[in-house]
Amino acid sequence: MAFEGLTERLQKAMEKLRKKPKVTDADLRETMREIRLALLEADVNFAVVKDFVKKVREKATGAEVLKGLNPAQQIVKIVNEELTVMMGETAVALEKAPHIPTVIMMVGLQGAGKTTTAGKLALKLKEEEHARPLMIAADVYRPAAITQLQQVADSIDVPVFEEGTNVDPVQIVKDGMDQAHANHNDYVLIDTAGRLQIDEKLMDELAQIKELTHPNEILLVVDAMTGQNAVNTAEGFNDQLDITGVVLTKLDGDTRGGAAMSIRAVTGKPIKFVGEGEKMTDLDVFHPDRMASRILGMGDMLSLIEKAQKNFDEEQAQETMEKMRENTFDYNDFLAQMDQVTKMGPMENLLKMIPGMANNPALQNVNLDPKQFAHIKAIILSMTPEERQNPDLMNPSRRRRLAAGSGRPIVEVNRMIKQFNQMRKMMKQVTNGNFNGLQNLMGG
Ligand code: GDP
Repeated sequence: MAFEGLTERLQKAMEKLRKKPKVTDADLRETMREIRLALLEADVNFAVVKDFVKKVREKATGAEVLKGLNPAQQIVKIVNEELTVMMGETAVALEKAPHIPTVIMMVGLQGAGKTTTAGKLALKLKEEEHARPLMIAADVYRPAAITQLQQVADSIDVPVFEEGTNVDPVQIVKDGMDQAHANHNDYVLIDTAGRLQIDEKLMDELAQIKELTHPNEILLVVDAMTGQNAVNTAEGFNDQLDITGVVLTKLDGDTRGGAAMSIRAVTGKPIKFVGEGEKMTDLDVFHPDRMASRILGMGDMLSLIEKAQKNFDEEQAQETMEKMRENTFDYNDFLAQMDQVTKMGPMENLLKMIPGMANNPALQNVNLDPKQFAHIKAIILSMTPEERQNPDLMNPSRRRRLAAGSGRPIVEVNRMIKQFNQMRKMMKQVTNGNFNGLQNLMGG
């Protein structure tokens, strides 16, 4: 999980402070020392850490925080604010061209997630703006690169312009731009070549493509897992190409946080998007304030709500409510609901966005194995259509058949059916305005 160690250490440092009846100068110094070490350990750039600690200390002493009420809480607030500032304060939107097409050049080292991100971004533009993007395959050095882009584009139903690997990339981009103009595409996403390291030939080529297309955005894709290397890469690309923004990928992995926190401060360029998974829908706008809250373990309810809104089908939700009221909620509805929840991404990631959950020990014992979802699904899919519509049919012999059909032990089948029945009972009570049943179920 991203930022895990950092969140834990920052929380510990703050917790210590919270326990003190009175916060002295020495206490503040000790807390700041712990915060400094936590940030350095999370691979945040040294100069950035130094500057951050200085600012927090100034604010904490200057504002008479220590003499006021709740000094620990105020210090948490200052740390939160400064983290936000360090990451750029507010989200920065994509630049758009006054006349179509808006040109977005995707650049980055090999394996950072450039091609995947180009696809994710094209999908986002399609979904949010009903855009008609064209992608240009300008990586001619790896034959597989074009195939990969083609596959990504096929999965989101976006056209690709390509001329194989024997044409000069600058020429390909030129021809691709002509096609975009002819077809009135409103966005062009150029998937450029990557290398294992920054090299002069590549930079030359990218500079030529920049010169030719005058892109509205040069988005550098960097892998958050590479920490300070990502920051150095960003510096290198920025020096040569004057990039307009960064996309930080693989934030769903267990990155320590250094890249997310240093890139803006070191390069002066905003992180515009973050990649949080391998699926085409796993690209989010980067919000510095929300990220700061997440790092501090204070949750990110806003992002969670947005994710829910995006993934939940209003009509289906209405239908479910209706069924709950009429007490006709069946296994088909249950399946549909599970699909909606899984679409939102890994369950752990969602839970961590809830305030106080990030380091909640209770969470350690919850089994959030996505396999469990798959098992429940397998059991339901082993039911006959009649059984799915009529949950009361589940007698012992049918249960044994389900166990055999799904390859799951009978106890698991029984448990699933029991939970489903409890859920039905609860739904009925809630929609009838009787909340006692709900309380009983929750052990209240
Ligand atoms: P490129 O060489 O820069 O074009 O990188 P690719 O787009 O081929 O991505 C390299 C690998 O990283 C692929 O396996 C992607 O699925 C994976 N990847 C890209 N973005 C993310 C992300 O946000 N999270 C995770 N977990 N994997 C990602």
